Amino acid sequence: MDLMEYQGKQFFASFGIPVSPGGVADTVDEAVAAAEAAGYPVVVKAQVMVGGRGKAGGVKLANNVDELREHAGNILGLDIKGHIVRRLWIENASDIAEEYYASFTLDRSAKKHLGMLSAEGGVEIEQVAVDNPDAIAKIWVDPVDGLTDAQAREWVAAAKLNPQAVEGAVAILKLLYTAYTEGDADLTEINPLILKPTGEVHALDAKVTLDNNAAFRHEWAEFEATQERDSREQAAHEADLQYVGLDGSVGIIANGAGLAMSTLDVVNQVGGSPANFLDVGGGADAEKFVNALTIIDNDPLVKSIFINIFGGITRGEEVANGIIAALGQIDISSPIVIRLDGTNADEGRALLEPHLGDKLRMEPTMLDAARTVVALANA
Ligand code: GDP
Ligand code: MN
Repeated sequence: MDLMEYQGKQFFASFGIPVSPGGVADTVDEAVAAAEAAGYPVVVKAQVMVGGRGKAGGVKLANNVDELREHAGNILGLDIKGHIVRRLWIENASDIAEEYYASFTLDRSAKKHLGMLSAEGGVEIEQVAVDNPDAIAKIWVDPVDGLTDAQAREWVAAAKLNPQAVEGAVAILKLLYTAYTEGDADLTEINPLILKPTGEVHALDAKVTLDNNAAFRHEWAEFEATQERDSREQAAHEADLQYVGLDGSVGIIANGAGLAMSTLDVVNQVGGSPANFLDVGGGADAEKFVNALTIIDNDPLVKSIFINIFGGITRGEEVANGIIAALGQIDISSPIVIRLDGTNADEGRALLEPHLGDKLRMEPTMLDAARTVVALANA
């Protein structure tokens, strides 16, 4: 789950990372109150789940209430890369001497946490990585050992920050690592991390992605409440399905996240484009298939649907019965192609056999099914 900047700052502050005082506002009047509490001059910042707000006119400095009203009025309702601004974060403006970049994320191939630090912050780090990769100092942290003080110091030295910033940066990077690990984040990023003329180091922006699988051990209800989902994702969320919307034409249902991802790959491999990722999980009750099929069939881009099942603990005939019951309850407009394998696949296929026709086809392998479903989508 991605956090908005103000939530990311709230998350950072809970780990002791210094951020500017401020408040949220959904109207111009609320912005005035938040600015008075934060103290002028303030920065008015659009709260949308997308970067590059500054360039898009979503970050403005206001020295007094008149400027504040003007900027707040302009930014509320602004369209930033397809995201409409409905909320502002107003914070006390900082004087900036230098802008840095700092982040932690997981390097799966190294099986370590990857920290990145650059003296060239503020701008898009992807651009720095292309133009001047040497300007990004990287550190790989073994999750068992954690980030030691000595490592953090070496890392800061490698990034060649202003000597004035060293102590503050070391302290913040250690806190950022703690926030990333103990906070169960997949990404913690500060861009810019600033050095003030007075010598303090401070987080001026916050980008945080939390690991949804760890939600049970945190109080994330407030973050959850503001998640932006498209209508398909919202329906899937309410039905408790693991769904990610994509923009292709082949609807996908699989049991198990690994199989669902492989299904996307195979559909791509034979020249198709997946409309979604959907893991129906274990079990085989008809209701799950009703929900899954309804969400996919309501997607106007979907032209055909691939149900890819590998029976495990849930046996093939149970899944077949679930699908048959679901298809008896709803009318699906796109043709469906099923591949059923694994435990009791023969029994499951025998149950499906009498229901086959133009609207429901069955193929013996994943690859055959992918070819058929893609041909139907392109027909
Ligand atoms: P982003 O464009 O979405 O990444 O938004 P940021 O929060 O990073 O803000 C963009 C830029 O606005 C920063 O890189 C700063 O240069 C500037 N900015 C943001 N807050 C302040 C502030 O408090 N004081 C000053 N002087 N500039 C700021
Ligand atoms: Mn930024």
